[in-house]
Amino acid sequence: MSERIPVRTVETFEPSRPKMKVKTSDNLIHTRSFTGLFRNLRITGAGFLFLLFFGTVWLNWGGRQAVLWDLSESKFHIFGATFWPQDFILLSALLIIAAFGLFAITVFAGRVWCGYTCPQSSWTWIFMWCEKITEGERNQRIKLQASPWGLNKLMRRSAKHTLWLAISLLTGLTFVGYFTPIRPLAEELLTLQMGGVSLFWVLFFTGATYINAGWLREAVCMHMCPYARFQSVMFDKDTLTISYDVARGENRGPRKREVKPAEVGLGDCIDCQLCVQVCPTGIDIRDGLQMECIGCAACIDACDSIMDKMGYAPGLISYTSERQLQGGKTHLLRPRLVGYTAVLLVMIAALVVALVERPMVSLDVSKDRGLFRENSQGQIENIYSLKVINKTQQRQDYQLSLVDAGDFELRGKTALSLAPGEIVGVPVSVAMLTERPASSSQSLSFKVMDSDEPGIYSVAQSRFVAPMNR
Ligand code: SF4
Ligand code: SF4
Repeated sequence: MSERIPVRTVETFEPSRPKMKVKTSDNLIHTRSFTGLFRNLRITGAGFLFLLFFGTVWLNWGGRQAVLWDLSESKFHIFGATFWPQDFILLSALLIIAAFGLFAITVFAGRVWCGYTCPQSSWTWIFMWCEKITEGERNQRIKLQASPWGLNKLMRRSAKHTLWLAISLLTGLTFVGYFTPIRPLAEELLTLQMGGVSLFWVLFFTGATYINAGWLREAVCMHMCPYARFQSVMFDKDTLTISYDVARGENRGPRKREVKPAEVGLGDCIDCQLCVQVCPTGIDIRDGLQMECIGCAACIDACDSIMDKMGYAPGLISYTSERQLQGGKTHLLRPRLVGYTAVLLVMIAALVVALVERPMVSLDVSKDRGLFRENSQGQIENIYSLKVINKTQQRQDYQLSLVDAGDFELRGKTALSLAPGEIVGVPVSVAMLTERPASSSQSLSFKVMDSDEPGIYSVAQSRFVAPMNR
């Protein structure tokens, strides 16, 4: 059994930033600009996410929007493949795979998802960047915050909120565009003709983006996101987390560059506070692993730049494990990580097989409410409604039949031709060819089969009801 790291809540933040207080423009955390390897990685991760989110919705495939969850028709189109409500078990499988992927990556490297690709963090970074280009660097923003309202403050704040709202509106429009075709939706917005449900949802997601990324920011990570709460259960002594090397850094304190720290009883931390000033959640990583840390690695970049200036080795704050900090060696292969990875791989393989084997024709059967009737030939008949769905993107011919028909005969229209994505309801009857039934209720299997490719078929079960004594 691997040991777990207790995650603490530490009350050592910027004095100006009260915890869980309604935000105004005057008590946002003002982060300092910095550069570094992990910042570049984060920009790459967020850039990929934005490209995926804002770009995919505009792609067309086979004459229709490539990715569209058509709510009115209950279909999900993705690059030529169409998924129906019957296929949503695959979506559940995908969500379970995503959850196990998150578990595995968290056990291995802590909150990398939060720091590099979580939409909340990514949109917050973009909003912070808007703040920087409209209100200036950290010191200018703090000064602006303290200054009385005047033309300069009004213009800068207006520019910031205009940018925030523009990004929020684009986000809201794009999100709704995955459920309603984006091109007509954008046209309606530009010509001010959007109304009803679409307008409500675009405005709803615009507002949600503006509030979450503009105002709530780290409060979402700290107080609302459940993932932050259960991360301590997933971490063990070998999990890579962003940590401050206490043994190397303490005693902290300022000194001249040319002074050897050991000679004046100091460690490598010059107590410049840069790691605190760049932190989007406003914590001090030197207080230890905290629930508020989203693993963005900004403090690593900031501290490494200071180490470089001081002529010290980088890595006073780094990705490391608790075991390594205690002088041991990080074990990468450990039972929990191997277990999560194995489950993940098995589930991915199962999903791939399920996708490949997914029947491209679907059959549902419902029995008529009447139990049975006697036809003109004196045979007992049951009535059924069959629903056939052509899940392909081409017109297909199908044949309806009974599997192992035995004493039964299927009557009605059994040859069908369906357009791409078409659903048809087919009323059929089944007649019993013998006088005496084997039992009062027998199982029947209906089958719909592609006339050209017998390997493509779907089977649905129902029952045949007959009187035992006539
Ligand atoms: S950035 Fe590095 S040197 Fe500066 S206070 Fe933080 S840990 Fe210490
Ligand atoms: S402590 Fe470091 S890694 Fe954690 S949120 Fe703050 S800057 Fe990011």
